[in-house]
Amino acid sequence: MELAERATILTPSLTLSIDSKAKAMKAEGIDVCSFGAGEPDYDTPEHIKAAAMASLDGGFTKYTPSSGIPELRQAISDKFKADNGIDYKPSQIIVSNGAKHSCYNAILATCQPGDEVIIPAPYWLSYPEMVRLAGAEPVFVQTREENNWKMTAEEFESAMTPRTKMVILNSPGNPTGSVYTREELEAIVEVADTEDIFILSDEIYEKLTYDGAEHVSVASLSPTAYNLTITINGFSKAYAMTGWRLGYLAAPEPIARAIDAIQSHSTSNPCSFAQKGGLAALKGDQTPVEDMRAEFDLRRQYMVNRLKSIPGVTVVDPKGAFYVLANISKLGLSSTNFADRLLAKHHVAVVPGIAFGDDRTIRFSYATGMDIIKKGLDRFEEFCKSL
Ligand SMILES: *Cc1c(COP(=O)(O)O)cnc(C)c1O
Repeated sequence: MELAERATILTPSLTLSIDSKAKAMKAEGIDVCSFGAGEPDYDTPEHIKAAAMASLDGGFTKYTPSSGIPELRQAISDKFKADNGIDYKPSQIIVSNGAKHSCYNAILATCQPGDEVIIPAPYWLSYPEMVRLAGAEPVFVQTREENNWKMTAEEFESAMTPRTKMVILNSPGNPTGSVYTREELEAIVEVADTEDIFILSDEIYEKLTYDGAEHVSVASLSPTAYNLTITINGFSKAYAMTGWRLGYLAAPEPIARAIDAIQSHSTSNPCSFAQKGGLAALKGDQTPVEDMRAEFDLRRQYMVNRLKSIPGVTVVDPKGAFYVLANISKLGLSSTNFADRLLAKHHVAVVPGIAFGDDRTIRFSYATGMDIIKKGLDRFEEFCKSL
């Protein structure tokens, strides 16, 4: 029995495997401080849950249009206009089973064998695998700590070949926490425009920015940017709705139509009552989003200050998302070895940077309580000093 090649080239998610190791230790009664989380530690706001429950009670349990219910697509269109300054008609919007699904659909609709996709590293670990599943080839651009882990237009241009089909941008970024400025994005768009390269702009962390950093949507920059860009967003991070599996994308009409066709023959519509929850999230009270952001910010500042004080560890101030990427290469261990020993000896779980294409780093998530952050960093400091 032989599996398809596309299934055999995938690497199982390292973030999930660290997480399951940490959970197994917790189940044995070990007091593990976990910084592995890739999701908010908050519950979904009540009014969103109430809307989904009411729709279930009302029998909203059938198939919906494949790209999502019209009211939700309209609300997303309104959101793009109000928050991002982009004009997308509801017909240009596809609601999917999470932003991850939206990314995958977008890549499947645009990339094929022979194509290259440029991905700045450190990257979110699913991008290269999605590109490979589409039969295309990821091309990595190693970004520099001195440039806050951001790809410059020049670095992008040097990685381009006649086969380059797409570039993936993720601002605010996971795992780096980097936020690209308007000028940096404009310079990248200018390069992409020279060869008509698609831009996949994953903006899932747009609501989580700090220190006055401004989130800029790529598609809002110019008509050129608009025509090249597929904008990805979703509910998981801003509204603490990871388990709901609800995200969306927006694109120029022909791309949106192609993606709609792919989705209609693979998953069909995202969960009907989750869509009603999403509608309530967009239309309802936004204060829970800001409350969560403000709390993340306190934890971020504490964590960054502590990490910066540890000899051998360097960090770039993250301006978005809920991660701190620490460079631990001066301490002499590979990221996997470092993370394994830290977990085994000091019961602290972090994600080794090799998962994100950078073996010099480890990722801390601050989507966890302040008490755990304090205790975990005490242990982390002790571990670093023992090396
Ligand atoms: C969490 C995350 C997503 C996926 O979010 P879902 O909507 O839950 O699928 C997409 N991109 C990045 C960079 C993420 O960190």
